[in-house]
Amino acid sequence: MKIEFSETELTIFEKIGQAAGTLGTPCYLIGGFVRDRIIGRPTKDADIVCLGDGIELAHAVADLFQPKPSVAYFKTFGTAQLKLPGLEIEFVGARKESYRQHSRKPEVSPGTITDDQNRRDFTINALAVSLNKTDFGVLLDPFNGLADIAAKRIQTPLAPEQTFDDDPLRMMRAIRFAAQLGFTIEPATFRAISEHASRIHIVSQERISDELNKIMLCARPSVGWDLLFRSGLLQVIFPQLADLYGAEYVDGKGHKDNFYHTLQVLDNIASKTDDLWLRWAALLHDIGKPATKKFEEGHGWTFHGHEVVGARMVPKIFTRLKLPLNEKMKLVQKLVLLHLRPISLTKDNITDSAIRRLLFDAGEDIDSLMMLCNADITSKNAAKVKRYLQNFELVRQRLEAVEEKDRIRNWQPPITGEMIMQKFGLSPSKPVGIIKDAIREAILDGVIPNEFEAAYRFMLEKAVELNLQAVE
Ligand code: ATP
Repeated sequence: MKIEFSETELTIFEKIGQAAGTLGTPCYLIGGFVRDRIIGRPTKDADIVCLGDGIELAHAVADLFQPKPSVAYFKTFGTAQLKLPGLEIEFVGARKESYRQHSRKPEVSPGTITDDQNRRDFTINALAVSLNKTDFGVLLDPFNGLADIAAKRIQTPLAPEQTFDDDPLRMMRAIRFAAQLGFTIEPATFRAISEHASRIHIVSQERISDELNKIMLCARPSVGWDLLFRSGLLQVIFPQLADLYGAEYVDGKGHKDNFYHTLQVLDNIASKTDDLWLRWAALLHDIGKPATKKFEEGHGWTFHGHEVVGARMVPKIFTRLKLPLNEKMKLVQKLVLLHLRPISLTKDNITDSAIRRLLFDAGEDIDSLMMLCNADITSKNAAKVKRYLQNFELVRQRLEAVEEKDRIRNWQPPITGEMIMQKFGLSPSKPVGIIKDAIREAILDGVIPNEFEAAYRFMLEKAVELNLQAVE
């Protein structure tokens, strides 16, 4: 089989072969690039393995280009990187690996191309293409990776137990590739993941979360999360999410399985946006449900306050997963906290003030919140879904109408704390906050119009109540 390269790639690979020929170090294109070219997936990174010094080869290759690209190299790892337009190439010498029990960092020694293919995680990632003059373009496929690509199958080249025991990160990678490529994990390989799930603890959280984010960015992230759950990995790396699984019954009354409901919401939102953090918000929107679950006589199952409990859990989960504790976390937290609000506005007799309040609380994230809310409609009952969607559309129209009229989104009340302090000769203190909050609430409740004059008068009234004297 011949792999199809673009004109530019072909020129680059021929130059690499030429430089390797001059140095007498045979070299091969290997791993993900070969896999993705066969599948027909776009790739910007190519890995080159050579039987010699990777850094030396990278320098020799750079010499063949005009203008000469710079070579970034890491002496301790024996790797070098060359950035060419549209392609980033990494060079390394072929190596043989042996593992120790307590670490996923192997002992490495120089090896043959076969040794190097043996240390690869999956058959589909062990494919190599010769770049050498005598057999340029020939595919080296010792583990039938080609057949596995055709069968859309993920399996390890060597015994899966050993492969995962050596480097447990490979368990996360297997699941991530299954989710990314739409492949299935071969049964013995999957069994070995289940058996070794607890060994994931020797892998750093950063590497685990890198894989989780890659799963999150798949077209259907639910595939990856479901495999994590079914293999038992989820219970080790993210038990709070696994706790959503299952439906409990009392007196014949059950509640929906919140794990699979969550995954459905996640897929729904993924079909609308590539935004990683909106996807995390979807995954975490019901995370407070297990902690708030109650069976109430006459009512059935309730999860009162799960949005508040869930929002409180968000920073803890981000800390544990080593996700960034920045404004992205704040966005996720806000969406979790507010996720029931738009739907609560579908009841009759909703006032403009309730709509204004939601616009104010959601601010510029109102569209993201509405997207989450829409994704949260997952009932299997078609009539119910239709009714929800119609109600939802009504809320959307009300939000638009009120925003058009009152401009609450990105709104700041017309009287600032600064003005209050000046008027009454106050330093930053409690009364300033009381007056400021009262003005905001009065406008949101529609007690006074959203105008400077009205707000000013209201401020003076409030000041009288607080026994404050104007100084100017
Ligand atoms: P992607 O770029 O989507 O992550 P990839 O297959 O290129 O996919 P890389 O992490 O760039 O993944 O790794 C390049 C290659 O190195 C892989 O194709 C595989 O052959 C090998 N590899 C990477 N990580 C491991 C690992 N933990 N164990 C064994 N082989 C690995």
